[in-house]
Amino acid sequence: MIRDKKIPTPKYLLDLTPLKKQLSYVKIEEGKVKIGSTTTLYELSRTFLHSDVRFAGFVDVWKKFGTFAIRFSATIGGNLAAATQYSDYITLLLAYDARVKAISANGERTIPVEKLVLDKRVTSLRPDELIKEVEFDAPPESSSSSFIKFDRRELLIAGIVTGAFFLRLDQGKIQDVKVAFDMVKDKRVPARAREVENFLLGKMFSEELVNQAADEILPASMERITDWWTTAEYRLDMSKIALKRGLLKCKTRIEKGVV
Ligand SMILES: Cc1cc2nc3c(=O)[nH]c(=O)nc-3n(C[C@H](O)[C@H](O)[C@H](O)COP(=O)(O)OP(=O)(O)OC[C@H]3O[C@@H](n4cnc5c(N)ncnc54)[C@H](O)[C@@H]3O)c2cc1C
Repeated sequence: MIRDKKIPTPKYLLDLTPLKKQLSYVKIEEGKVKIGSTTTLYELSRTFLHSDVRFAGFVDVWKKFGTFAIRFSATIGGNLAAATQYSDYITLLLAYDARVKAISANGERTIPVEKLVLDKRVTSLRPDELIKEVEFDAPPESSSSSFIKFDRRELLIAGIVTGAFFLRLDQGKIQDVKVAFDMVKDKRVPARAREVENFLLGKMFSEELVNQAADEILPASMERITDWWTTAEYRLDMSKIALKRGLLKCKTRIEKGVV
């Protein structure tokens, strides 16, 4: 990136490794899930986030993330701050309405992930700020999530389409639903598909309803692009399939209680 002049040559490099002891953790405190920013994917995989059905989407991301070597070194803070449409944890954490705690010598502030990632490789972090922690409300029972990433291969993929889905049901009724994709409308970074969420919220869950959301509501929330990789039409079709599969996966997980 520096060689190709896509990012300016940095004056200084900051090694966060010495902070690992303080900033690598996953815990639930006062009803909130808190993930320290230097926590690696491997470290995430050793916690309740990979065994409790309410967080099942974390397992899905792990399975499709880069290579094993990358999973041992990539941190959640780095994934968010990289701020691209390929940052899988941005998409997943949007479906949990997550926030980050940013720290600097001047104090701490909370930024919703939605407001952290402004554009491709652009965040709302100030130059003197670090991401200290990611947090989101611990979801109640009868909820689960899923993450879908489509590409031509299974591994080491950027994803033609990625989507993250969160669902909470109460006797079949949709009490909470969140839908995030790698790109929505004219945004070139992950965002929520709110029209889809508003359409589904409060209704009885059924396959027909999900199909209707995917086929009729989703296309109005998305402007998919054509590039050297594939066409906008294909991306939109795959987005519909991701929504259908993702929500049905959440429902099955809630019913069976397993990831
Ligand atoms: C081969 C390969 C495959 C990959 N596959 C995937 C994939 O499948 N899915 C995916 O999402 N990503 C993938 N990535 C991208 C990459 O692994 C992730 O973005 C990774 O999480 C970056 O984390 P890091 O800790 O290495 O951050 P770094 O690369 O060190 O940093 C990334 C950016 O974030 C900033 N930063 C880091 N930590 C913080 C912090 N605490 N506070 C503020 N700013 C910070 C850095 O200054 C830098 O600008 C892949 C990368 C490679 C090389």
